[in-house]
Amino acid sequence: MHELGIVLEVVKQVEEIARVNNLAKIDTLVLQIGELSSIVPYYIEELYPIAVEDSFLRDTLLRIETIPGIGECSSCGLSYHVKDSDYKCPDCKGSEWTVITGTEFMIKEILIESSGCQS
Ligand SMILES: [Zn+2]
Repeated sequence: MHELGIVLEVVKQVEEIARVNNLAKIDTLVLQIGELSSIVPYYIEELYPIAVEDSFLRDTLLRIETIPGIGECSSCGLSYHVKDSDYKCPDCKGSEWTVITGTEFMIKEILIESSGCQS
């Protein structure tokens, strides 16, 4: 399981962004994870509270957006949802495909509460 290292790396990056931009607090951290990446969103969610426990992000919510894994069939050129089609082209049943989307892993957004008076 390599997810803990990944989460810690993300936390480090976000802390750095916060430091550079002088942010006092981050409300929500939005990550994008592609379905075809080797990263399992479930583990990221499980590990996140542990990773942020003693950090600047301990009150920051984590939101994960999943990017569908879309491939293009090498035989007929059809684009299809790879996982839903059991990694085979639904049209010609070819099992060779190239990735169009779904291998992403990135920090998509950092949301900061709009400056209100509430505490
Ligand atoms: Zn095909």
